[in-house]
Amino acid sequence: MSEIHNVIIIGSGPAGYTAGLYAARAMLEPLMFAGYMSGGQLMLTSDVENFPGYPKGIGGPEMMMELREQAERFGLEVRDQNVESVDLSEKPYKVVVEGETFLTHAIIVSTGAESIWLNAPGEEQQKGRGISTCATCDGAFFKNEEVLVIGGGDSACEEATFLTRFASKVTLIHRHDVFRASTIMYDRVVKHDKIEVKTFRQVKEWLSDEKGLTGAVLEDPRDGTLENISVSGAFIAIGHKPITGFLGGQVEVDGEGYILHKKHTMTSVEGVFAAGDVVDTRYKQAITAAGMGCQSAMDVEKWLEDQH
Ligand code: NDP
Repeated sequence: MSEIHNVIIIGSGPAGYTAGLYAARAMLEPLMFAGYMSGGQLMLTSDVENFPGYPKGIGGPEMMMELREQAERFGLEVRDQNVESVDLSEKPYKVVVEGETFLTHAIIVSTGAESIWLNAPGEEQQKGRGISTCATCDGAFFKNEEVLVIGGGDSACEEATFLTRFASKVTLIHRHDVFRASTIMYDRVVKHDKIEVKTFRQVKEWLSDEKGLTGAVLEDPRDGTLENISVSGAFIAIGHKPITGFLGGQVEVDGEGYILHKKHTMTSVEGVFAAGDVVDTRYKQAITAAGMGCQSAMDVEKWLEDQH
């Protein structure tokens, strides 16, 4: 507990690893708590096709391993543990991990975001028994079966396309007819002969039997018309929410829980910085997260210098 670290990085997606790379190269000897499932959301992504420098695309987990390896080469220390809480009431700050307390002058929060669930009736009981938020993790369970995907963004389109590898049919439903997804990803969906897109549909209720999910009651939000769909798998892809619970409300966030930047990448607390999806309400790309991770490490370096 007596050693005071220069900077502790919490979270290990593209933002965290890039922050780690820059902080390590700046000789700050950064320590990262990567979480039990290090690598963040890209560990659950099949193919990354839009990160510059990979002309043939790259698997999400593979890219995360390479980012980690690159940062570790310059001295980033990575521990695959979850941070339970932080105490920002006095300096040096305290970071509590599995009951052990670490002291640090600066912190970079790069914990990213987690999937939002629909919370329709019957959902809780069928989580892991047919209802999932991760096609990469669970898609293979639905070989030659019919599945449902919910959402109108890039995630929903990506999940639907990925699921065609296994499922006999994928139905993608969206609550209206305007899709947020990028044109290239949406086009792939509408042109795919295994995918049917149904607009103006939302899940009113999940249907199940003793073996698991059997389908859903869908509702047209315009007039309340109901229809039943039979599927054995359903993938909810309706967005993400930032992971900030361990901060215990000590850092200012916006109405949706995203951390607010006050000066460059510094948060409302002096010496506490944030980068990536935990801050980003708009872009949410691996490349933008990596860019912000770089900025946060450079801001930490400058801020530490200014303290002397
Ligand atoms: P988005 O926020 O972009 O889209 C969420 C979708 O879910 C919207 O269509 C939204 O509908 C719908 N939705 C939200 N709440 C509900 C609800 N309660 N019931 C039904 N539908 C709902 O999230 P994504 O996860 O798709 O994408 C997040 C970010 O990640 C984006 O910036 C995206 O570009 C990026 N991304 C990039 C990928 C890539 O490039 N390979 C892959 C995946 C994501 P509405 O429009 O009505 O609000």
